[in-house]
Amino acid sequence: MVYQAPHSLPVRPSDDGAAAPASRPDPAALVGLIRTWGQVLGFQQVGIADCDLSQAETHLAHWLAAGLHGEMAYMARHGERRSRPAALVPGTRSVISVRMDYLPEPPAAMHAALADPTTAFISRYALGRDYHKVLRRRLARLAARIAAHIGPFGHRVFVDSAPVLEKPLAQKAGLGWIGKHSNLIHPRAGSFFFLGEIYCDLALPPDAPGRDHCGRCQACIAICPTAAIVAPYVVDARRCISYLTIEHPGPIPAALRPLLGNRIYGCDDCQLVCPWNRHGRTSTEPDFQPRHGLDTASLIALFGWDEAEFLARTEGSSIRRIGHQRWLRNLAVALGNAPPTPPVRSALLARQRHPSELVREHVDWALRHLAAAVGGAPRADPSV
Ligand code: SF4
Repeated sequence: MVYQAPHSLPVRPSDDGAAAPASRPDPAALVGLIRTWGQVLGFQQVGIADCDLSQAETHLAHWLAAGLHGEMAYMARHGERRSRPAALVPGTRSVISVRMDYLPEPPAAMHAALADPTTAFISRYALGRDYHKVLRRRLARLAARIAAHIGPFGHRVFVDSAPVLEKPLAQKAGLGWIGKHSNLIHPRAGSFFFLGEIYCDLALPPDAPGRDHCGRCQACIAICPTAAIVAPYVVDARRCISYLTIEHPGPIPAALRPLLGNRIYGCDDCQLVCPWNRHGRTSTEPDFQPRHGLDTASLIALFGWDEAEFLARTEGSSIRRIGHQRWLRNLAVALGNAPPTPPVRSALLARQRHPSELVREHVDWALRHLAAAVGGAPRADPSV
């Protein structure tokens, strides 16, 4: 069914089982209802985009051609299905784009965690429950609410899970603009939010796209610890700490390791420095509140988790997908960047004979880095 004009709306059964016409709001009225239902479901903003992503398609093609996606081969794999919604879901005519704020604590607490080299810094989006599940469930309810009102319609829900250009779609839907750090920014809400989409076969009136307000600011480019924003609006994933600690499966390039500091899962620096986040609101969503004290956990404590504990404590969290080896790899680097105290060194020595070559190599690097910090050579594991 395609929602275009009242005469094309479906017929749905009435309460007594007889066929009765569905409600027939005009498209603009339906969008108004979708916004209201979305807000009731906990989305802070709902917008509508059409399916023309030709500008974003060109930007993506250049980014891929330059190899800036690193080992994220899936970014190149789906060709035009990523930038042409109707190629991914035939019949798609509009995209409902939603925003859900997630920041669980004020920026001051993030600065404090980053400033303490013995504390593990985890990107704030990952402290709570896996957002994919939370948003997908709410989007499915929003789609069901629409169907209850107009009758069945063709749609598919996405949350960062398929070849979807969610940020360009959100910009087109008026949810904000893509900043020079490549994240979406809303002028009042900042950028600490998740996005989700409903591709649908309804012809809904699109919102006005968000306008760029970065101006001459370069703060995110200057602050990036690894200089990953190689030009305004261009991020080299191969240098980006989020990519290196989450997506990248192999060894972290040695030259970049000291620059990671205590960031063990993702990085928020470019968002934290952004002036548009100065007044960003915190979320009261229970699912996004920190679990297991991950907002203030020490590097040594997290490095001590064995695989069973890692799996248990990251159940229902997006962190789980990196697996225990990458978790230890990242923590080893952070410990190598920590103050060279006896407890830090002991924690690393305890993992020196870990069965994973990946972990062992990063532990050895960390011990050498600590030794260099105190001006000596690393000592051998006393247990060997
Ligand atoms: S820090 Fe400045 S340049 Fe970067 S996204 Fe924010 S406003 Fe734009």
